[in-house]
Amino acid sequence: EKVFSGFSKTRNNLAVIDELLLYWNLADTDRVLDELEEALLVSDFGPKITIKIVENLREDILSGKLKSGNEIKEALKRNVLELLTSKGSKTELQLGFRKPSVIMIVGVNGGGKTTSLGKLAYRLKNEGAKILMAAGDTFRAAASDQLEIWAERTGCEIVVAESEKAKASSVLSQAVKKGKELGFDIVLCDTSGRLHTNYSLMEELISCKKSVAKVIPGAPNEILLVLDGTTGLNMLPQAREFNDVVGVTGLILTKLDGSARGGCVVSVVDELGIPVKFVGVGEGVEDLQPFDAEAFVNAIFM
Ligand code: GDP
Repeated sequence: EKVFSGFSKTRNNLAVIDELLLYWNLADTDRVLDELEEALLVSDFGPKITIKIVENLREDILSGKLKSGNEIKEALKRNVLELLTSKGSKTELQLGFRKPSVIMIVGVNGGGKTTSLGKLAYRLKNEGAKILMAAGDTFRAAASDQLEIWAERTGCEIVVAESEKAKASSVLSQAVKKGKELGFDIVLCDTSGRLHTNYSLMEELISCKKSVAKVIPGAPNEILLVLDGTTGLNMLPQAREFNDVVGVTGLILTKLDGSARGGCVVSVVDELGIPVKFVGVGEGVEDLQPFDAEAFVNAIFM
């Protein structure tokens, strides 16, 4: 299957567990758990989650709850699945009842924002929605051109800045107004992604959010943060900052077809308590998939 074809590195790192568990016996527990800990750490699960998982398993082994290598492996998978799903948040888009629904896409440059927006437009359009794109990345000149290519590719309309000096917030508010007047179902808003430590970027995102809410109370319905899956645990501080400033409602993890290390998916969900809504698994129009936690766990642990 195409989804999660890219976790070969993670799979290899975690495959050592299978061998260990095959010959596991109670006397061997400490050594096996040490090696399991190592395997999780190199797969980017991060120290906090790794310790949580390993200590959970240790407790269940010592109390006699887990009696075979197989049971330990299954418990490990359950633990990870639990971490991914326990936050209780919904992985489906929450689009509200007012039309148009507004989805803002945020994230640092190069993470895959524009591409994800294009792929999301394609997916939602295929589900029957009338989509309007808004080129809110007014900072990077090429961003608007790039989004126009996606608009053409997916057959969606687009609102772009009328002048070079146009503010992102006014492009978005113009788009949402147009969406409202012309009966669009969803407005997909691209935003700028200059370095996240740039104070004015965060200010800009806040004013984008406000300008959209002025047109439609309750909007944006979703603020999706795009994170590059190949950056591993480095994505954590970045994600935290975006969330603190704009209040992220869902994650899109991109480039999971490449050399992404799977553990960071678990870390970021646990750390932020925000669900992964979509994953990017390539550069084509169809390469954005709804996140399936169970398929993910099965893919990394085989
Ligand atoms: P932005 O600056 O955040 O808008 O990022 P872009 O959308 O321009 O994407 C940056 C690069 O990553 C482009 O070359 C994309 O084709 C590529 N890209 C985005 N998503 C994926 C993905 O899921 N898989 C792969 N392999 N490449 C991706």
